[in-house]
Amino acid sequence: MFSRLLNWSQHLRARLPALLPSSCALCGCDSSATVCEGCRTQFFAQRTHRCARCAMTLADASASECGDCLKQPPAFDATIVATDYAPPADRLVLALKFGSRLELAPLFAGMLRDAMLNAPKTKLPQLLTATPLGRRRLMERGFNQALEIARPLSRALGVELDARLVMRQRDTQAQSLLHPDERRKNMRDAFSVRPDAIDRLRGLHIGLVDDVITTGETLNELAATLKRFGAARVTNFVFARTPQK
Ligand SMILES: [Zn+2]
Ligand SMILES: [Zn+2]
Repeated sequence: MFSRLLNWSQHLRARLPALLPSSCALCGCDSSATVCEGCRTQFFAQRTHRCARCAMTLADASASECGDCLKQPPAFDATIVATDYAPPADRLVLALKFGSRLELAPLFAGMLRDAMLNAPKTKLPQLLTATPLGRRRLMERGFNQALEIARPLSRALGVELDARLVMRQRDTQAQSLLHPDERRKNMRDAFSVRPDAIDRLRGLHIGLVDDVITTGETLNELAATLKRFGAARVTNFVFARTPQK
């Protein structure tokens, strides 16, 4: 009971800044927008040519997929990202995740919508969901940052969100702490589809929302799970992409 109360107060505190006059989360100038127009132009206006499947930066403008995806295609079909996970976007990601700056989530969603519009070949998914957080991590943090991004993205794209489509079967170790060889093993059978959602999943194009993609192992396992249960296609919507796997 106490932990539930504590969680609720964390939740309230996290939502409060959105109600107060704000300053730019990057340069600190007075701004009603979460990130001011100047910072958006300076840091996020540049378009990058990326692998259509995993969103890795591609030097060859005529290539549509990276060598890794061509060699060993992941279970997901496409990835939309808004920016690289590099300064200053990494600060925004950390501020949302660990600083509870939930007002950043609609900004991330807006940038993802813009990125989607700039990738004309990408098809709109029929249903959105978010990478689920383990129970323990959800208790500690009080919110799931991926779901916080998915809610405004669902509204921006006009695509229904099923927040609990996929469940985490168990708490996994943080992927960033593991050796690359151990990451796939760590994620194996980590997810399952909610039993009453299995029927509606069949044949659908699912949009998976997350804050950061690094090796893509978590999203690969999620997409593999969705497809095992009948999803026809999976597109990832991820705010930031680590430039190296
Ligand atoms: Zn600024
Ligand atoms: Zn790729």
